[in-house]
Amino acid sequence: MPLDDPLLQGFRRFQQQYFSADNPIYASLCQGQHPVTLVIACCDSRVHPPALMGSQPGEMFVVRNVANLVPPHSPDNQHASVAAALEFAVLNLKVGRIIVMGHSGCGGIQALLKRSTPADSALTHWLSIAELKHVN
Ligand SMILES: [Zn+2]
Repeated sequence: MPLDDPLLQGFRRFQQQYFSADNPIYASLCQGQHPVTLVIACCDSRVHPPALMGSQPGEMFVVRNVANLVPPHSPDNQHASVAAALEFAVLNLKVGRIIVMGHSGCGGIQALLKRSTPADSALTHWLSIAELKHVN
């Protein structure tokens, strides 16, 4: 990565802003995190929960995935990322609030509605969580 890469420059600004002697945020966060809110958001690059809600580092525990979906409970799924995050946030971090943050123009939901992804793709399988299921 070139030294003038915008991501590297941004990381340097972050370090200067949050690790300076006059900013105690990370000095405190090094001792542990105590977020009060869990946010389940889409991984869409336009959706940035902490920026949208003016949250500082340490205030928000965030789970992001395509179309901000929460899969149904499945005790046999040993790789359930969202369930693990929910469990950790509620039982360990003891968050008091959970927000599922949808957004307009979600490409994941559009792909689901248009059925525009290959039938055997990981994305199609993931988006099937949001399909209406009829239970008799
Ligand atoms: Zn989305």
